Amino acid sequence: MIYDAAIIGAGPAGLICARDAARRGLRVALVDSHEEPGVKLAIAGGGKGNITNRILAENRYVGEDTGILRSALKTFSCENALDLMRELGLPWEERDFGQIFGLKPASFMAERLALQCDDAGVDFYLGRTARNITAPDTEESAASLAFGKNGSCRHFTLFAGQDKITARQLVIAAGSSACPQLGANDQLLRLAATWGHDIIPFRPVLVPLVMPNDWPLAGLEGISLNVRLGLKSGTDIRWPDPEGIRSLLFTHRGVSGPAVLVASCWWKPGTELVIDFLPELPMLELLNDRENGKLLVRTLLARRLPARLADALCPEDLARRKVAELGKKDRLRLADAIHRFTILPSGTEGLRRAEAAAGGVALSGLTRRLESRHIPGLFFCGEIVDIAGLLGGYNIHWAFASGAIVSKGLK
Ligand SMILES: Cc1cc2nc3c(=O)[nH]c(=O)nc-3n(C[C@H](O)[C@H](O)[C@H](O)COP(=O)(O)OP(=O)(O)OC[C@H]3O[C@@H](n4cnc5c(N)ncnc54)[C@H](O)[C@@H]3O)c2cc1C
Repeated sequence: MIYDAAIIGAGPAGLICARDAARRGLRVALVDSHEEPGVKLAIAGGGKGNITNRILAENRYVGEDTGILRSALKTFSCENALDLMRELGLPWEERDFGQIFGLKPASFMAERLALQCDDAGVDFYLGRTARNITAPDTEESAASLAFGKNGSCRHFTLFAGQDKITARQLVIAAGSSACPQLGANDQLLRLAATWGHDIIPFRPVLVPLVMPNDWPLAGLEGISLNVRLGLKSGTDIRWPDPEGIRSLLFTHRGVSGPAVLVASCWWKPGTELVIDFLPELPMLELLNDRENGKLLVRTLLARRLPARLADALCPEDLARRKVAELGKKDRLRLADAIHRFTILPSGTEGLRRAEAAAGGVALSGLTRRLESRHIPGLFFCGEIVDIAGLLGGYNIHWAFASGAIVSKGLK
């Protein structure tokens, strides 16, 4: 039998795409290496799943070209995601920064979506890695020989275990290489490259940053506070997080917490991290306030910051001086130490600790319906596309939005 569409990847993108296409009467095969669908979805948000966000906008995403997002987020808005949750029987709560979390385990969502796929007539091929994938006989598909040739020339073909699947259209919803411990890898991204697509190699995002062993704030693990994070290249400082202030957590190896996970979306090796430890309280105002004049500098800081952090940040020669005694130069130096603490991270905790990966199939090679400009009938959706969301339900939202968009383009 020839399927109308074969979909590789039963994450949120592949599941919604399969369900919607099958509901429209298409014959759909859904293949996944795992025995259970939605394995990453099930662990999202600490098992609760931050599914979507009230504030959906292009600046909540990173990628080389995020132009397509505006229309994608209109086609599949937060309201559409909430409709999906209603339909699945998944109640939710709204938390800070517009984050929408499910009130049942995230695995519930994966299970219900899989059931709906089943009801719509999707054929599942679970516990089987798609291999020997070939495209119809176009010039570009000659490159797929590297992945094996099955002899078909008019259809997409692939093997799921021993089963050969033949389909008129192919959807690659295989996610990124974040979390290799779950089997994630970049094989299908590399296949896209052999099919003529520009690709941006995956890099870990939403990931803790590692600091040099001897950095001045070593030993503060466990301390957490609200900060604003900037990124410095040369003399230029950017403060890219649209939410501004979030919490930072000192870890054994560096820093983590929402502020850092978000900053990691833009961080690249060689970029310095700038930390504003008192983002809502200008240091110079505090120093100029007559009421603080008699305080020792370290006492003033310890009233506003965790004591050990205050000690570590305060220049030693100023710590035991009275605030009123400080000249203009010293006040500026102190303000800089608190508002512009600058450090070059030695790296990230890597793909194993990353909640997502930036990079993927470049949008320049895809139409608005996420169909390949090189191979008709080939579609990409979800995290394998070069769009990664900030912390806040943006990645699952993109997976659903892009999966829904692709399903509409399938014939
Ligand atoms: C710990 C953690 C927490 C997270 N929390 C959140 C959160 O709260 N909110 C949020 O928005 N995002 C969160 N994310 C990110 C989010 O889970 C992903 O962005 C999302 O699941 C991507 O969906 P997808 O369908 O594109 O890919 P995936 O969910 O990764 O699914 C892809 C599937 O393709 C399968 N596959 C790949 N290659 C093959 C092959 N050759 N053959 C067969 N199958 C294959 C894989 O087995 C996988 O099941 C989190 C991620 C992690 C790791």
